[in-house]
Amino acid sequence: MKGALPVIVCKFGGTSLCDATRFFRVADLIAKDSARRVVVPSAPGKRFAEDEKITDLLLQCYGAGQARAQELFAHVRQRYAVIAKELGFAGLLDEQLEQIQRRFRHESLPWALSRGEYLSGLLLAKLLDWSFLDAAQAVFFGADGRCDLEKTESALRAAMPHKGGLVLPGFYGAASDGSIRTFPRGGSDITGAIAARALGASLYENWTDVPGVLAADPRIVPQARVVESLSYRELRELSAMGAGVLQEEAVLPVREAGIPIAVRSTLDPSAPGTLIQPLQTSSPLPVTGVTGRRGFVPIMLEKTLLRSDPLLIQRALETLNTFRVPLEHMPSGVDTLCLLVPECALAPCREALQRALFTALKPDSIELGKPLALLAIVGNGMRGRRGVAAQVLDALADDGIRVRMLNYGAGGFTLLIGVDEDDFEDGIRSAYRGAFSQEA
Ligand code: ASP
Repeated sequence: MKGALPVIVCKFGGTSLCDATRFFRVADLIAKDSARRVVVPSAPGKRFAEDEKITDLLLQCYGAGQARAQELFAHVRQRYAVIAKELGFAGLLDEQLEQIQRRFRHESLPWALSRGEYLSGLLLAKLLDWSFLDAAQAVFFGADGRCDLEKTESALRAAMPHKGGLVLPGFYGAASDGSIRTFPRGGSDITGAIAARALGASLYENWTDVPGVLAADPRIVPQARVVESLSYRELRELSAMGAGVLQEEAVLPVREAGIPIAVRSTLDPSAPGTLIQPLQTSSPLPVTGVTGRRGFVPIMLEKTLLRSDPLLIQRALETLNTFRVPLEHMPSGVDTLCLLVPECALAPCREALQRALFTALKPDSIELGKPLALLAIVGNGMRGRRGVAAQVLDALADDGIRVRMLNYGAGGFTLLIGVDEDDFEDGIRSAYRGAFSQEA
């Protein structure tokens, strides 16, 4: 959008809006940068560990019997009433809440769930004195159940005010018949990404309660560092191998448009967080993150002169396909081929698939190995440095972890290491230590 003012789209997660204090904090953050002109709020989340998210309360309420539903809805009412009062807007949502309660049982589940974001949006728009745009009027789903980007983008562009900003509740939109539809849970991230793309945002800020993307799962590596910056490609590698970063659907719209994403924490807004960019030009560290997954089974085939049969691999893949077993990796040797497949897909057809592979490939032997876990060491910067893989392997060896498989990928920015499933967590810790040993 040539000549238009720069726009930053900010999505705030549930913990960033769990009470009035957090709402005020959000307003302060917005005021700090005049480019922050679009806010996508989630429904209020947990205030403390045992608390309930509003969306979970609405979900329980929808499935409960009448008496219990009334009780649960009273909690929802109370939470919004307190937030509204503390923001200085006592009674603002009374009528809305009354109406929602009346309609609750007659409407669909997505409608019921979407009310959390809807009410959050009303409150935030009032607090910021910005326009409120009901997502049912701007985010559209096609008949295939996916977001109709074209229609959504033109509705969002048309709704963007010339002055002030826009509050667009996350998580829901309207289906082609006008009924409410939601994205998967956590889907306000998707709304934010769609809005950022539609409005040609210079940045998509995803405000959450974590300090940024972490270089390893903090439940396994408590001291895991915050990744300052990473490329979309690294993000994909990390997510594909199990790192719970951002849902693919929440990344795709902005990635395609080349819009960077900043993951920041409302609990520590001055911290830089993580910047996810189309391309990472200079990586400060060779490794970006260490992640992994359990549950891979190696199907090991041996056949003398295996490579002289050019169609063998094709037949192997066709056979897997017949059984709907995806191929994750295929490390191979001179006379050996290993098909690494997910255990969950293999479980229903183990014997039948083995027989079919025997018939199709006529190997000398075929064996299903013990399941293994894959550790993934990801980093664009690994390509330009020597010794990173050695450091990781040394750390594993020092800790007595046996390496069962190794794959350095063609791109050279993902090192995959197969280890026994029992060694998974220790393996992540050792690999992390090795990968970041140059940091100190
Ligand atoms: N409130 C919804 C959920 O809890 C959507 C979101 O927070 O992004 O899943």
